[in-house]
Amino acid sequence: MALVVQKYGGTSVGSVERIQHVARRVKKYRDAGNEIVVVVSAMSGETNRLIGMAKSISGSPSAREMDVLVSTGEQVTIALLCMALHELGCEARSYTGPQVDILTDSAHSKARIMNIDQARVRADIEAGRIVVVAGFQGVDEYGDITTLGRGGSDTTAVAMAAALKADECQIFTDVDGVYTTDPRIESKARKLDQITFEEMLEMASLGSKVLQIRAVEFAGKFNVPLRVLSSFAEEGDGTLITFEGKGVEAAKIAGIAFNRDEAKLTVRGVPDQPGVAYKILGPISDANIEVDMIVQNIAHDNTANFTFTIHRTEYVKAKQILQNVAEALQAQEVLGDEKIVKISLVGVGMRSHAGIASRMFAALSKEGINIQMISTSEIKISVVVDEKYLELGVRTLHEAFELDT
Ligand code: ASP
Ligand code: MG
Repeated sequence: MALVVQKYGGTSVGSVERIQHVARRVKKYRDAGNEIVVVVSAMSGETNRLIGMAKSISGSPSAREMDVLVSTGEQVTIALLCMALHELGCEARSYTGPQVDILTDSAHSKARIMNIDQARVRADIEAGRIVVVAGFQGVDEYGDITTLGRGGSDTTAVAMAAALKADECQIFTDVDGVYTTDPRIESKARKLDQITFEEMLEMASLGSKVLQIRAVEFAGKFNVPLRVLSSFAEEGDGTLITFEGKGVEAAKIAGIAFNRDEAKLTVRGVPDQPGVAYKILGPISDANIEVDMIVQNIAHDNTANFTFTIHRTEYVKAKQILQNVAEALQAQEVLGDEKIVKISLVGVGMRSHAGIASRMFAALSKEGINIQMISTSEIKISVVVDEKYLELGVRTLHEAFELDT
């Protein structure tokens, strides 16, 4: 008998009919001889609706009360799902996060799970019941309700699976797995049967939004086998997120991620002196602006150009800051471009295969796509290009690396 933690997201429980559908799903797994713990999100749109109501009362609602409010969405779905299971003749019990002691720190709206006391859940499982737990929420040491950040039900599920030492954590969502790239951009994108944790982390942080990043990190850290599946399709094994070296032959490239939300800033003609990078990026980080890629070219005539990328929403603020910095540094000028995108190739196989970068650059140049910036890590190569080349760039690389076969 396997112990499986299943998580159903907002769309999967978006209506009463869908909740009944989930109940049938759960029963099917149950009848196949598994022990099941289910974690659910709020019905789709519900968390936003609750936040909207709060915002209409106060511009800065109390963080504590916000968590009391937004955690209610999940309390609705756990109860309804249990009722639907009862109608199918299954024994099931629902619990909120605090009821099953999902202990977190006190950082309201972005709390981190510190411990789960799984005794109560375990007792129900042993009594033959299906346990349904509210995602996204916990309780801090003072007994106050906390929430884990948007999309946090994924993390609840993974943490539950880790605490119970479950055989698998299955995330049911509205897509049937992790794809080589976004199928809305490249219709030939292919579902991956497997992807490694490292690759999944890169894909997630580079803009592929299938799983909450923190959930993937958590699963990697606690060795929880994680699977992404469709809650709508009747068939299919989804995508298994695996550990490298477990008999899995590493593909060279797992997929292509992209990020549309970037902007680029350059300070031209900064003096080539110690401390300049700090003088430029210090004020940026003091303003809580996150920097992604950084490139400084080799100095010439005792000056250098310094370029970095940030989130597009921070562009105006960052440019303003740089203008002041540039003046103080007696740099030549500040240039910026908010119409750029980042496209990244991801694959653990890069470690052992040479020539990936040159193949990537050759493919892009053949299409006349100008590369503005390049950065690499052990398992990824990212390029910044004009945003008008996003679709073409992704499709070109998808084909060049034969990801559709
Ligand atoms: N209901 C929460 C949200 O909308 C948590 C989740 O869905 O995972 O972010
Ligand atoms: Mg979600």
